[in-house]
Amino acid sequence: MDTFSKTERSDIMRKVRSKDTSPERKVRSLLHRLGFRFRLHRKDLPGNPDIVLPKHNAVIFVHGCFWHRHPGCSRATTPATRREYWLPKFDRTVRRDAENQAALRRLGWKVVVVWECELRDVEDMEIRLSQAILSEELWYENGDGEPFPMAAEGQSPYGPPDKAE
Ligand SMILES: [Zn+2]
Repeated sequence: MDTFSKTERSDIMRKVRSKDTSPERKVRSLLHRLGFRFRLHRKDLPGNPDIVLPKHNAVIFVHGCFWHRHPGCSRATTPATRREYWLPKFDRTVRRDAENQAALRRLGWKVVVVWECELRDVEDMEIRLSQAILSEELWYENGDGEPFPMAAEGQSPYGPPDKAE
């Protein structure tokens, strides 16, 4: 039985869809506009990266600031109650992210982390994403709230995998 009117239904559908206009979707359409070809959710890679650009050896994680604890971000709040539940959960997520990113870099992938809040400035994100993807360096989120260390501001302390060994 259909309990919703047509208008109600399309409202609901719109809401469902707008849920999928998630940060990840934004990044996808941005990459599309820039002309990059990519694949989604490669299950065979550590951490199952959201977006994979095989041609450029780059993977992109689109991280929610709250769950993945964007350093210094106002969205990375800690709930006031049940801290004994949240804190270990956050710890595990952050540690897992770091392990996955390290494993990917060891495999020679450029790891790019896009934080949800950074997508407010789409133009800026376009520039930084294309630079990160096309870079010869292994770009990555460095944990100090500087998502993409720019080459001009100093090289990644880890460097490409062959130099890091
Ligand atoms: Zn953030």
